[in-house]
Amino acid sequence: KTKRIAIYGKGGIGKSTIVSNIAAAYSENCNVLVIGCDPKADTTRTLVGSRIPTILEIVKRKKGASPDEILFKGYGGVRCVESGGPEPGVGCAGRGVIVAMNLLEKLEIFSEDLDVIIYDVLGDVVCGGFAVPLREEFADEVYIVTSGEYMALYAANNICKGIKKLKSRFGGVICNRRGLKDEVKIVGEFAERVGSKIIGVIPKSELVQKSEYEAKTVVEKFPDSKQTELYRKLAKAIYLNEDFVVPEPMGIDEFEEFFRQF
Ligand code: ADP
Ligand code: SF4
Ligand code: MG
Repeated sequence: KTKRIAIYGKGGIGKSTIVSNIAAAYSENCNVLVIGCDPKADTTRTLVGSRIPTILEIVKRKKGASPDEILFKGYGGVRCVESGGPEPGVGCAGRGVIVAMNLLEKLEIFSEDLDVIIYDVLGDVVCGGFAVPLREEFADEVYIVTSGEYMALYAANNICKGIKKLKSRFGGVICNRRGLKDEVKIVGEFAERVGSKIIGVIPKSELVQKSEYEAKTVVEKFPDSKQTELYRKLAKAIYLNEDFVVPEPMGIDEFEEFFRQF
């Protein structure tokens, strides 16, 4: 059975970096498909080595796109697609995700030989649009990326509200470190408060930028580094995880009180 994972988190928190690096790690043993659902459409850049055209761009140009036109092969054979977004100021980004999903289904891109599918989804607003991968049951389990910063945790708590509403299976919190003092403790306590756990900790590392300059993942550019080892470890922890909950998000006052104790 294909493992179908959705990764949510605030914009800029490190989702795409994590998704592309764990996809690269999985590619060592598995067939992987990465679906970028963020209008930024840069999830797969470090896998493919450049930006790829998005599904929305392609279907706008012509009707009846073929799988070859929307599916790109990245590092380690990782299959990559980007849903793309509407032109700024027009349309609904979530709608774009629906259009993209339907097309992927129609073109049979969710093929049976896939071991892992990873969705990279923005979580600043947990509107109906961005809930699509969960609501339409394209993904079976969800993880949230956060640092120990207020806004990242605030967004993470909101995402928990969305997951609860949809009764989806929450697998845990990924701590992508900004380098704050006591950060892992803060994120760990947050995870516990919402009824879950930390599934992995990724430190802040200059290797991320160094590989980003060359449009590569850390796993590709620095295969023997400690950072790569940690992406591999996270990939494995997610793969083996069997502990899922419906999260219990905090209320606004409870969240304030929680955050102030640090
Ligand atoms: P998102 O997809 O959540 O918007 P990105 O993965 O694009 O976030 O990351 C945002 C920025 O933060 C990128 O420029 C990336 O290089 C940087 N970044 C992400 N994770 C790390 C890390 N562990 N160490 C250093 N920089 C990081
Ligand atoms: Fe944007 Fe979400 Fe509203 Fe769509 S539903 S327009 S993605 S806020
Ligand atoms: Mg991103």
